[in-house]
Amino acid sequence: MKYIDEFRDGDAAGRLAAAIRAEADPARTYHIMEFCGGHTHAISRYGLEDLLPANVRMIHGPGCPVCVLPVGRIDAAIWLARQPGVILCTYGDMLRVPGSKRLSLLKVKAEGCDIRMVYSTLDAVKLAADNPDRSVVFFAIGFETTTPPTAVAIKQAAALGLSNFFVFCNHVLTPSAITQILDSPEVRELGTVQLDAFIGPAHVSTIIGSAPYEYFAEEYQRPVVIAGFEPLDVLQAVRMLVAQINQGRFEVENEFARAVTRDGNPKAKALVAEMFELRKSFEWRGLGLVPYSGLRIKEAFAAFDAERHWDVPADSVADNKACECGAILRGVKKPTDCKLFGTVCTPENPMGSCMVSAEGACAAHWTYGRFRDMKASDAS
Ligand code: SF4
Repeated sequence: MKYIDEFRDGDAAGRLAAAIRAEADPARTYHIMEFCGGHTHAISRYGLEDLLPANVRMIHGPGCPVCVLPVGRIDAAIWLARQPGVILCTYGDMLRVPGSKRLSLLKVKAEGCDIRMVYSTLDAVKLAADNPDRSVVFFAIGFETTTPPTAVAIKQAAALGLSNFFVFCNHVLTPSAITQILDSPEVRELGTVQLDAFIGPAHVSTIIGSAPYEYFAEEYQRPVVIAGFEPLDVLQAVRMLVAQINQGRFEVENEFARAVTRDGNPKAKALVAEMFELRKSFEWRGLGLVPYSGLRIKEAFAAFDAERHWDVPADSVADNKACECGAILRGVKKPTDCKLFGTVCTPENPMGSCMVSAEGACAAHWTYGRFRDMKASDAS
C-alpha cells in the first residue's frame, strides 16, 4: 500500500538504525522527546527503542489528547451528562477515562445517563437534528488536528438552525505545551529531565505547519523534527535530530514533507480562527495551568457553547494519588515506575488516562513493551 508498506520496511529500518548507531557520539547521551502519542505508539509497537543505541533515549511526551485532559474536565463532562434532557456524545476513548470518585462516562451511562459514542463531529450534529426535544452536547477534545472538525460541526449546526446543539470545548494547543515542558522546574532548574530535542507531531503539523515550532527551537535552543507516524519516519527523525545535536544546530526540520508544509492548512486555520479564541489559561493533566494553551468558543457562536448555556463546574480536581500519569506526561517517569502498572491498572481497568487510549504511554507500553521487559528480565 502506498505510503504505508514502504515506511514499514524492515531492511530499510535496519539500515537507518545502523546509521544512527554509527553517527551517535558514544561520548554523549541524546535525550529525545516524542511529543505525540502517535509516535509513542509507533515506538512501542515496532520495538524501535531496541534498534537504537543505548545512548539515544526516547522520552514520552504529553501529546495524547485523551491523556492530558484533567480530572476536573472529565467530572464536568459527567456533570453535563447528568443534566435533564441531555445527550452527551464524544469519541470512544473518552468514555473510559476515569474522573474522580472512580467514575467515568461509561459508568454513568450504566446508571442511565444518555451518553453516545460518535465517530465524527457531524454524527453529533445529526444526533441533534434527530432529537429536537433534547440537548445534544458534544464533548470536544484534542489538539489542533481535531479542532477544525469541531468548527465545521458548529457551522453546520448554525446552518441547520439547530438550537439544541452544544459543544463542551476542550481543544488544546501543542506549542504551548512544549513551551510549558521546557519551562518546567524539572527541565530548567532541577535538571531531573534532560531534553535535547523533540520529534514534532505529524497530524497537528498538517494543520498548523512547521512555523509555530521555530520560536522555541530558537529560544530554547532545542532542535525539532516533524515526523510521520510510521516506523521509518520515526527512525529518520531520530537520525536527523542526532545530526542536528552533533552539529550544534537547533532548527525545525520536516521529515513528514509528504503532508506538512511550513504554513500548514490555511483553510483549516482560518476556520479555527473564526470560531475559537484563546483561553487565558487551561489546566492540563500533569502540566497544571498552562497559559494560552486552550481554546474557547467565540462570542459570535456563544449559542453553541455548553459552558455558557450551563453553569458547568470548573473545579480543579486532584489526580488519583497512586497514578503517575502526571509525571509520565511531563517525561519525569516511565509507565513501569507506577506501582499500579499492569497490576491494578490495565487497559481493561484503567486507573489513569494514560492507560485508556492506544496513544497513552501506559497503554502502549502494556500492549507492546511489557514483553520486552519480560524478555530482558529472562535474560538477566
Ligand atoms: S499505570 Fe495506570 S495508574 Fe499508573 S500511571 Fe499509568 S494510567 Fe496511571
